[in-house]
Amino acid sequence: MEKGLTTATKLLARLQRGLSAGAAQAVKVVLRLAEEEGRTLYLVGGGVRDLVLGRGQVDIDLVGEGSVLSLAQRAAAALGGRWVEHRAFGTVTVEGRDFRLDLAMARAESYARPGALPKVRPASLGEDLARRDFSINAMALALCGRQRGQLLDPFDGMGDINGKLVRVLHDRSFIDDATRILRAVRYEARFSFGIEEGTLALLKRDLSYLDTISGARLRHDLLRLLAEDEPERGFLRCQELGVLPAIHRSLRFDGELADAFRQARETAQAGPQPELYLGLLGARLSPADAQAVALRLALSKRQRQALEGAAELAFLLPWLSRADVRPSQVVERLEPYPLPAVQAWALVASRSAAGEKLARYLEGWRYVKSSLDGRALERLGVKRGRAMGDVLRLLRRARLDGQASSRQEETDLVRSVVEGRVKLREWQAENGG
Ligand code: ATP
Repeated sequence: MEKGLTTATKLLARLQRGLSAGAAQAVKVVLRLAEEEGRTLYLVGGGVRDLVLGRGQVDIDLVGEGSVLSLAQRAAAALGGRWVEHRAFGTVTVEGRDFRLDLAMARAESYARPGALPKVRPASLGEDLARRDFSINAMALALCGRQRGQLLDPFDGMGDINGKLVRVLHDRSFIDDATRILRAVRYEARFSFGIEEGTLALLKRDLSYLDTISGARLRHDLLRLLAEDEPERGFLRCQELGVLPAIHRSLRFDGELADAFRQARETAQAGPQPELYLGLLGARLSPADAQAVALRLALSKRQRQALEGAAELAFLLPWLSRADVRPSQVVERLEPYPLPAVQAWALVASRSAAGEKLARYLEGWRYVKSSLDGRALERLGVKRGRAMGDVLRLLRRARLDGQASSRQEETDLVRSVVEGRVKLREWQAENGG
């Protein structure tokens, strides 16, 4: 107990230090209001785990026994913020300009069938901790009231943090909710932990329960894996454990893809978007499999296009590697594809002739435009409408392929078309149109 108290005091101090001024003020107000009501609020879940690990900014997830709605409303009013209730989960978000905290009623969950969303009922804090995924996420730190400073750790999360282990709380955990399989891999990779031996056996035993999870929930957890700093670590582990084929038989990951993921991060200035990673995954799939995966994961339109586009683009690779292909042809063939699909192939095929063309397309060719615009063309006698479109296309091609490199040369080309010295159709045919 003595040791527990000193640890908890340290955690409280870390919490104080780790909060922004706005968040600290918000927490102070909520705790004062809770004390006035004679109740205790606990920091729970990942927030406690991250405090123990001494990691960055802490999510403020607060839990109290009984409804927290009126407490949240009073806190929002006192802080000049707003509140949003998520009734199905008994949670309320309170947020203002410079803070956000989640207040939740302690709850127990039961599962009507594997993979179903849980049925929720009000419960004690102990039951609330027992419904959680892993011991490291099932600790609570009392922040006010008589218990202030007490760390509740019924599943020895501290022991598992010290032992660097991800451990489920009971044998049916992955059956109840197989998204926990992806969560286990995510925490293991993020913290460089290991999945505890018994948990690992359960995970392997229960892989088939991934079938019970809806596409939207699978997508959510896979995207959270992709949002990690080094998602390839989790994906390699998923491959090793057979998680990917359990999601869809065609999905696979290997060292080469891991390298491509790393390169994607080095090249993307603002960090790679999930679509680029999806493009990399899609580059390994046949179009039919990519479609099936997109359907299974209920991907959004942009995500689906990245995955499927990359799968389809594979067919262009032999053509792209030919030496006689002109830049304008590359541009016209690649433009219909979503950018992440092209970027993905530029990474995957980076050391080949095709990869070089993809890179040049991305870095320069796709931005090339003619110097002359529609108005300039009208002044040279080109009529609006289809002819104008044809001439603009011709000029862009000429620019890309080095047949016109200045405004003057473009003007000369347009004049020769207008005066009939060059026949548009013939020029197009000769120049790959
Ligand atoms: P991260 O650090 O990635 O944000 P987190 O630990 O904050 O992760 P959340 O997904 O935000 O996790 O969920 C908050 C808490 O809710 C978790 O720490 C865990 O206790 C519990 N939880 C979340 N998802 C599940 C689940 N599928 N099954 C059981 N408990 C869960």
